[in-house]
Amino acid sequence: MVSLTVPRDSPYGLANLPYGVFSPAGAAPRVGVRYGDHVVDLAVLLDDPVLAAGSLNPFLAEGRDRWVAVRAAVTDQLAGDVPAEAVHALADVTLHLPVQVGDYVDFYASEHHARNLGRIFRPHEADPLPTAWKHLPIGYHGRAGSVVVSGTDVRRPCGQRRGPEGSPVFGPTERLDVEAELGFLVGTGSAQGSRVDVTDADRRLFGVVLLNDWSARDIQAWEYVPLGPHLGKSFASTISPWVVPLLALEEARVPTPPQDPAPLPYLAMEEPWGLDITMTVEWNGQEVSRPPYRTTYWSPAQMLAHLTVNGAPTRPGDLLGSGTVSGPERETRGAFIELTWDGAEPLEVGGEARTFLEDGDEVVITASAPGPHGSRLGFGEARGRILPALP
Ligand code: MN
Repeated sequence: MVSLTVPRDSPYGLANLPYGVFSPAGAAPRVGVRYGDHVVDLAVLLDDPVLAAGSLNPFLAEGRDRWVAVRAAVTDQLAGDVPAEAVHALADVTLHLPVQVGDYVDFYASEHHARNLGRIFRPHEADPLPTAWKHLPIGYHGRAGSVVVSGTDVRRPCGQRRGPEGSPVFGPTERLDVEAELGFLVGTGSAQGSRVDVTDADRRLFGVVLLNDWSARDIQAWEYVPLGPHLGKSFASTISPWVVPLLALEEARVPTPPQDPAPLPYLAMEEPWGLDITMTVEWNGQEVSRPPYRTTYWSPAQMLAHLTVNGAPTRPGDLLGSGTVSGPERETRGAFIELTWDGAEPLEVGGEARTFLEDGDEVVITASAPGPHGSRLGFGEARGRILPALP
C-alpha cells in the first residue's frame, strides 16, 4: 500500500478527479482518474470490471447515482493508503480517447463569436446574427470518427476553395484555424422518440472536455451554403484526455448571460447552467487568447434539450460542442479568424506577424475553473501540431 500526496494548490486534487482512459506500458487501456501527477487505475482501486473497459461508455451508461457513488468511493480511498499496483506516474502512461464518441454535434452558442463571424462574412447585413440565433442554439452534425485525443498530429487538409475568378481551385487550405470550445459528454442516453427536458440535463450530462474544432476557413466558406460546414471541419477535432465531471463543477456554476427574448418553454432553465471556466489558447507556446466560457449565451442543458426536442436519440459518449468561445474583448476571442479579423489584423507570434496556421505550428488549449475554498480545477489540455498536406 502507498500513501499519495498531492500539493494543496494542485489543480488535480481531490476536488477534481477527472476521468480518463490510459494504458500502462504493455497493458490494455482502462479507466483511471488523475490525482496530481498520478493516474489511479479504478478497476484495481475499486475492483470493478466496468472500469476495466477501454472507454468510459459503460460507466457513463450506468447513470448519475453510480457516478456519485464511484466519485465518493474514489475520494474516500485516496484519502488513505491505496494499493501500489493501482498507481502510475502520469508521465509513464499513454492517454487515449476517454470515450467512444457516438454522435458529435457542434453548436454556435457564443453570441460574441456569432456576431463577429456575422460581421466578417456578411458585412452588408444590418444584423450580424442569423434570424433564428436568439431562438434556438444553432448547430451542425460533426464527424464523430474524426475526434482525436490531445497530442495527435493534424494533417493540413486539402479541398476546394474559391479561386480568384470565382471558379474553384483545389489544394491545401491556406486558412487553417482553431476553435477553442468546451465539449459536453452525454452520460445517460435517451430513447428515440423521447425528449430530454432542460431540467433533466444534470442527470444526463456527465462531464466536460476541452475541444479544438480545427477549421479550414477557405474550404468552409466555399461549401457551407446552404447546409453548413462539411469538409472544412470534418478532418479532425481534438479533445482533452481528461473528463472533468459536472459533479466537480458545483462552485463553477453561474447564470448564463440574460436571454432576451425569453426562449420557448422547452428551453427555459430553472437552474443556473453557465460555467465559470476560463480557457487559454497558446500558439507555439505563446498565449494569444483567454476565452471566458461564462459569457456563452446558450447553456449545455439547452443544447441537449434542443437536440432531442424532435425525438432524436442520444447515447453515452455523445459529444456536444459549445461552438467557439469568445468574450467581448479582442484578447478573449477563441478563433484566429476573429483574433486577426479575417487576417486583416495579424497577431505577433514568436516575433512574426501571423494570421492562420502554418505547417509545424502547435496549438494548446487549457482551462481552469473555481473549486472549493478558493482552489482552481484543471482540465488538462487539447494539443495539436500541424503536419504538411499530403502531396
Ligand atoms: Mn466549432
